[in-house]
Amino acid sequence: MGIKIDALKCTGCMACEMACGYHRDDGFALLSSCIVAYRTREKKDYFGVLLKREEDLLIARPEGTEIRRLGETEEEADSGKEQDASAKPMLLREACDLCEEMEIGPMCVKFCPVNAITEE
Ligand code: SF4
Ligand code: SF4
Repeated sequence: MGIKIDALKCTGCMACEMACGYHRDDGFALLSSCIVAYRTREKKDYFGVLLKREEDLLIARPEGTEIRRLGETEEEADSGKEQDASAKPMLLREACDLCEEMEIGPMCVKFCPVNAITEE
C-alpha cells in the first residue's frame, strides 16, 4: 500500500501537512510532517506536494509526478518552499509510515478536502 497524489486537484491548503504533523508529534507541528505542500512564487495557482518516503522523495507537480532518490533533489534542500529560511529540509524529516498505528488510516488522505491524496 502507498499513497498517490494528484497535484492537479491540490489547492495548497496544507491540511495534509498539518494532519501529518499531528500524527508525528501530537500537535500541529509542521516541521515534523513528512508531507509538504508547496507553491511557487513565480507561477500563480501552481500547487504541488512533496512526500518523503523511506527510499525516495515523491514530487507531485501539476505537470506530473516524479520520484527521486534521496540526495538528488533541489527540493530536499529547500523543502519546496522557495526562499523560506524556516523550512526544514526533506532529507531531515522522517519518512512516511502510512500512519500504520492510526485506526483511521493515513491522516493526509482523510484530511485532504479535495481528494488529491488517495491510497493505492
Ligand atoms: S500517510 Fe501518514 S505519515 Fe504518511 S504522509 Fe500521510 S499523514 Fe504523513
Ligand atoms: S490537503 Fe490536499 S489540497 Fe490541501 S495541500 Fe494537501 S494535497 Fe493539497
